[in-house]
Amino acid sequence: MLIAANWKMYKGPREARAFSEAFRAPKGVEAVICPPYVSLAATLESGHVVFAQNVHWADEGAFTGEISAPMLRELGVTGAIVGHSERRQHFGETDETVARRTLAALESGLRVIACVGESLEERETGQMELVLRIQVEAIADGVGTHSGLVLAYEPVWAIGTGKTASPEQAKEAHALIKSFLDVPVLYGGSVKPENAAELLSQPAVDGALVGGASLEVESFTAICQAAASLS
Ligand code: PEP
Repeated sequence: MLIAANWKMYKGPREARAFSEAFRAPKGVEAVICPPYVSLAATLESGHVVFAQNVHWADEGAFTGEISAPMLRELGVTGAIVGHSERRQHFGETDETVARRTLAALESGLRVIACVGESLEERETGQMELVLRIQVEAIADGVGTHSGLVLAYEPVWAIGTGKTASPEQAKEAHALIKSFLDVPVLYGGSVKPENAAELLSQPAVDGALVGGASLEVESFTAICQAAASLS
């Protein structure tokens, strides 16, 4: 089972190093840490599996503020999150750019956690299935199934809100996503030590992408332990 810590724009190198030295992944779980770019090197020092939070599709070029897959690989980073809803919402990420980033990263030998998920309005107006289909097919059209590709189902209404999809909702969405593209699917959206075991024990839930609760060693370890006890 894969449990990924998305630190978002938290933890500079000093805090990242302190976390990384204190954290030990329990046996039976693959723990992946996704720090901000400036803290990638400090997190790698303790031997953890480290992914970036984004990656550009070009190897190099005039793309101010972007980072490429070969640059990440040179550092020892082995994967990247792509298409997080915060990037879609605040930074103009589209299904097309998500697909381009995903394809380039996989072709460069990085693993990818590609994020999909519906907004509350989309869910409430009955568009969840359509939205997930469009988002997943954009990735599938470019890439298909690939051993380095994992999807994350992150309902936008559950990210950083304290609201969690019910186990039933997660089960249903994961099965739907897998019917579009049969790759492992992580659940993301207010995963905490208290709800991790129930969510992770649902069929078709292959791990978790954790934001807020990944910032403290204790809570992230507890989530990893919940996953380990299921595997
Ligand atoms: C995320 O950042 O991907 C996430 C799911 O955040 P949170 O766990 O805080 O909802």
